[in-house]
Amino acid sequence: MAYQVPQLPYPYDALEVAIDEATMQLHHDKHHQSYVDKANEALDGTDWADRPVEQILAQIEQLPERKRTLFRNNGGGHANHTLFWEIMSPEGGGEPEGALREALEDAFGGVPTFKEAFAQAATSLFGSGWAWLVWDGESLRIEQTANQDSPHMQGLMPVLGLDVWEHAYYLRYQNRRPDYVQAWWDVVHWPEVARRYEQARESAAGEGLVGKMRRAIAG
Ligand code: MN
Repeated sequence: MAYQVPQLPYPYDALEVAIDEATMQLHHDKHHQSYVDKANEALDGTDWADRPVEQILAQIEQLPERKRTLFRNNGGGHANHTLFWEIMSPEGGGEPEGALREALEDAFGGVPTFKEAFAQAATSLFGSGWAWLVWDGESLRIEQTANQDSPHMQGLMPVLGLDVWEHAYYLRYQNRRPDYVQAWWDVVHWPEVARRYEQARESAAGEGLVGKMRRAIAG
């Protein structure tokens, strides 16, 4: 079945404290729809069409070359935005708890220092792209990707992601990306981030990620 834009798990105006209704509507209904349409176009008529988008991104070098850039940009866009909607909530904010909190303390020295480093990655990224918290098979770390590149393309499991394309914030924040990043923490849905962290750890325990990292290191 072709990819579809998932329904937002909350109304367009639910994240108003950080992201305005008009931005949510355009971003979800127009931008995400366009990524989905073009990702479907890229896979149309191939035997890749039924596979999970994350799985294809993790094996992107195996896609026929003429399909690869179209899918990288749009399959990546589909995966990234699907995560983005889910890790936000009107009940968001506060701080993570449990195993995720401990892992953040191990990797960054504490939740405040993690937030500071993540915000720095998000605000310093030049041009369009994403800031990520990823699980690399051994620990949590912060990454940046350009355009709609997905951490899955590097064998990394995204746990938290922030869209810093101008379309994500420009209506309300114009050029003030740091204000958008700062406000965004109030809608981060930590229980979903924690669920993704657990899921990443489970999948990394299997062959998939470790094997992929070994292959990557071996070049
Ligand atoms: Mn976007």
